[in-house]
Amino acid sequence: MPSLTLAEARERADLVTVTSYAVDLDLDRGVEVFGSRSVVRFTCTTPGARTWVDVHARTVTSATLNGRALDAGDLVDGRLPLPDVAGENELVVEAVMAYSHDGQGLHRATDPADGLDYVYGHLFLDAAPSVYACFDQPDLKAPYELTVLAPEEWVVLGNGAATREAPGRWRLAATLPLATYFVTVCAGPYVSVTAEHDGIPLGLHARASLREPLERHAPEMLEVTRQSFDYFHDLFGIRYPFGEYHQVFVPEFNAGAMENPGCVVLRDQYLFRGAATRDELLGRANTISHELSHMWFGDLVTMQWWDDLWLNESFAEYMSHRCLVDATRYTDAWVDSSIVRKVWGYGAERSPSTHPVAGVEALDAQSALQNFDGISYAKGAATLRQLISFVGDDAFIAGVRDYLSRLAYGNGTLADFLGAIERASGRSLEQWSRAWLLTADRDTLSVRLTEQGGAVSDAVVLRETPTRHPADRPHAFDVAGWTDGEQRLGLSLTVTDAETPVPALVGNPAPAVVVPNAADLTWARIRLSDSTIDALPAQLASVPDAQARAVVWSALLDGVHGATVSPDTFLEVFHASWPHETNPSLLTRVASYAEHRIVPWFVPRERQAGVRSALAESGRTVLKQAPAGQTASLAAARLVAGTSDDESLLRAWASGHDLPEGLSDDGDFRWIVVRNLAGRGLLDDEGIEQFRSRDDTLQGSLNALLCRASRPDADAKAWAWEQLTGRHGRSNYEMVHLARGFWQAPDDDLVAAYVPRYFDDVPAMAGWVGEDALSRVVESAFPVVFSDETARLSAAALERTDLSPGVRRPLVDCDSELREVLASRRAFAGS
Ligand SMILES: [Zn+2]
Repeated sequence: MPSLTLAEARERADLVTVTSYAVDLDLDRGVEVFGSRSVVRFTCTTPGARTWVDVHARTVTSATLNGRALDAGDLVDGRLPLPDVAGENELVVEAVMAYSHDGQGLHRATDPADGLDYVYGHLFLDAAPSVYACFDQPDLKAPYELTVLAPEEWVVLGNGAATREAPGRWRLAATLPLATYFVTVCAGPYVSVTAEHDGIPLGLHARASLREPLERHAPEMLEVTRQSFDYFHDLFGIRYPFGEYHQVFVPEFNAGAMENPGCVVLRDQYLFRGAATRDELLGRANTISHELSHMWFGDLVTMQWWDDLWLNESFAEYMSHRCLVDATRYTDAWVDSSIVRKVWGYGAERSPSTHPVAGVEALDAQSALQNFDGISYAKGAATLRQLISFVGDDAFIAGVRDYLSRLAYGNGTLADFLGAIERASGRSLEQWSRAWLLTADRDTLSVRLTEQGGAVSDAVVLRETPTRHPADRPHAFDVAGWTDGEQRLGLSLTVTDAETPVPALVGNPAPAVVVPNAADLTWARIRLSDSTIDALPAQLASVPDAQARAVVWSALLDGVHGATVSPDTFLEVFHASWPHETNPSLLTRVASYAEHRIVPWFVPRERQAGVRSALAESGRTVLKQAPAGQTASLAAARLVAGTSDDESLLRAWASGHDLPEGLSDDGDFRWIVVRNLAGRGLLDDEGIEQFRSRDDTLQGSLNALLCRASRPDADAKAWAWEQLTGRHGRSNYEMVHLARGFWQAPDDDLVAAYVPRYFDDVPAMAGWVGEDALSRVVESAFPVVFSDETARLSAAALERTDLSPGVRRPLVDCDSELREVLASRRAFAGS
């Protein structure tokens, strides 16, 4: 299907104004297809002109324009030509459409727990025509009226308030003008918790089998929702305009959530079945707040074309963290951002696919999606923090309010946004935005301290700009230093030069640990000095500032990927510091990076078993001393469950004996243990099946697939590969779980034969898997066999000209990570 180009979108927007959509969906036609009838009223500036409507149907049953029949045979590549359009028009398209199983369009899933079916619409980025006939581009907004026919026992939810008019017949209230990609319908035997805040009806909804966690978590989720409403009402000065506010937790959702006005959908793993760590709750609160901030930025004012999609996401990423810190109990949200979101963004920045935050012209809709990554979210948010340092917070907020009120119910561009900030601040942003928004890559910041007799005798901040993408980025940030837990220096400054002397530091006692950007305000590669790295094992645990510790961990990870820090150094700091860590996000995430990235990627296979045992030992130490049920003990228990080679302990935990407090009856924890057993060859398919039958749920089935794929057995690998890459109607989640288990192996020999097959079989899936889902498969199935041969095959694959964008982009990124691993192994071989 060709993707809409910018030129086409501009031409159509000049011609067409949509007055309204009336959509009637029939979801009572079985599990494969649904009926869709769209009535589109629109005007045209040039009567007699020719345009087209987008419709991706299995069959177009009938189509009329102003009462005249259109020939459905003219439908080519999802475009139905509209010849001879009048000044005012009524287009009616009736079609039979297919449910999807890849999370794009109208997704239908069966819950294995009870056999009940659920449907939800996710129409981002260009899936709207697979649900209704429309002019699918973000700047042709219109109000919607939807009616839905559904099985009688179903509940229907959507952008407008839902009314059940008769058994199985639902009407959704007319909406304000929406972009096509924001329309959603969620239908099925969903269960609900309802509430109200400040006159706004609130609803939380999930599959019937998730009623217990939904009800258990509802008070916390509603609290964050209320706090976010109050905060954004106050900050933006515009009342939430979209009526009711529903949050629907749906199965097999590709992203975290989607900001459909009035009806946000979220991945239902957020309804933690078992014990949740505090950072998991923080992450969910962050998503709730993020989506709510989009109601203004993204929904009320939408980008004109997809190349400004980053602005929505950078803004929401920034606003959700700000809201959590200012208005909720998650006052350490920026620490979490440093170790989760910015680590992700720095990874994107290291890849050759890196790109400027803004100004990358997306010539068509699908290519815009490829630049929608850690740069758009994490770097964009860091850039907004720099913008606020540059113009001041009052001017920033005044500019945001101006942008939102001026363009309400319409569309905006980067130029509109920057213009509003310039008017509010009275400052030109031309140079600033060229350096920060329009130039890719990042500077490297470091501090050169000279010491004499225990005191600082000279201090210089160094800013290196990348030769590939040089720019004069001004950095507002800080430098801090500690010895034995005592702060020895702390200073905020703005640098633009390559070398900035800092005389204020001279004469201070020289600290053991110096952290540039300790408050993590800017976006840069942070290079720690050799003496700081040497001091970390003894010093890091005593640094009292969690934000600074997060910056240190992020810099160490960055250094491992950049082959400037050895994986052994990372692990040495880990064993010395992590058992004393108190911040929940650092406890969970740093352990997870150690277990899932540092060991399997950067430690040579022959040493991995020993390193995993050492991780398990650190985990046991924390498990013994941490208070039961708190994040520290949960993070430690998960680390032990994932890395221990103690078969009797694992078997006991798997069968529910001697479990750490708070983890009995925790299905998700049990699967970590079962996965470890399966990966060690201590469970066969039948053994895995027994655990699945004890957890006969969607999560249970997915975990069982992952475990079966993890087994160190040639037949298990052959089965998993065929299930992953063959046409078996596997859902997006099933494919990703198969892929995640597949490369787990005691040695490369067991899986080496699949390395060349990956480069043939996975790109070929573009024929039947949606781009969003496929890009996740490409990434999760990339060979974990770090050899020159894999690098050669990967390079050859990237030479191919027939790769779809959803395959090419993750392949570029995985290829880059492979080369990082090889470079690290070369640099530290034998160390
Ligand atoms: Zn978002």
